[in-house]
Amino acid sequence: MHNNAQQYITRAIELAMLGHGFAEPNPMVGCVIVNDKGEIVGEGYHEKFGEAHAEVNALQMAGDRAHGATAYVTLEPCNHEGKTPPCALALIDAGIRKVVIGSIDPHQLSTGGVKSLKNAGIDVEVLDDEACNKLLAPFAKRVSTGLPWVICKWAQTSDGSTITPEGESPWISCEESINRVHAERGCIDGILVGANTVLLDNPSLTARGESPRRLPYRIVLDPILRSPSMQMFLMVTRKQFSFMIHQTMRLTTLAKQSLSKPQTGVLI
Ligand SMILES: [Zn+2]
Repeated sequence: MHNNAQQYITRAIELAMLGHGFAEPNPMVGCVIVNDKGEIVGEGYHEKFGEAHAEVNALQMAGDRAHGATAYVTLEPCNHEGKTPPCALALIDAGIRKVVIGSIDPHQLSTGGVKSLKNAGIDVEVLDDEACNKLLAPFAKRVSTGLPWVICKWAQTSDGSTITPEGESPWISCEESINRVHAERGCIDGILVGANTVLLDNPSLTARGESPRRLPYRIVLDPILRSPSMQMFLMVTRKQFSFMIHQTMRLTTLAKQSLSKPQTGVLI
């Protein structure tokens, strides 16, 4: 991959990231369309789940200028009719000459874009780009294992401590890190803590950044039910569901409990 291609893929990744929090559970995807003079004529990203994919948005911006151009896409264009028509077909119909792809789609349902593009006579280059693979990692994990992407977060000093030798945990986060945490909370589906955190800190576990994009579930690991279900943090907002994970109650009891308390859900 020459330098310009790297530059376009980097730009496509930047665009893709704009969809973080809105695009999921779909992958974040960005697309840049470049004409034969090296000018960017179209840019797009998957802005929201269920809406147009990155390629379609970039093609719309490019219009007729897409004819004979090269498309740089972070992910293999989809090949199936889902909530929107297949992007491989849209690229073919627009007269794109070449498609440079960051990562192959790990989803069996939507992969196959490379084959369709090649069958239509389009030059295809697959990069297996490290940054694109990283961008795709949460989606790739979900579709290949059925498990969610997990982000671990903790605060520690520069010498690696999280508590003092006396067992105290003084405030060591800064405003910048807190803002970043709250921005990320507003883009994910759940925040998980242990029962000790509930008992010691009584946290609200809400996303308090500017304009949160998702409302995360609050999940407590509490095998022997030490944290009262009516703990204050569960009452912060009725819109935000909470799950308590434990091992002592029957599923039917849990289901009744979650139905009778709309602000709390329960999961084993
Ligand atoms: Zn697509």
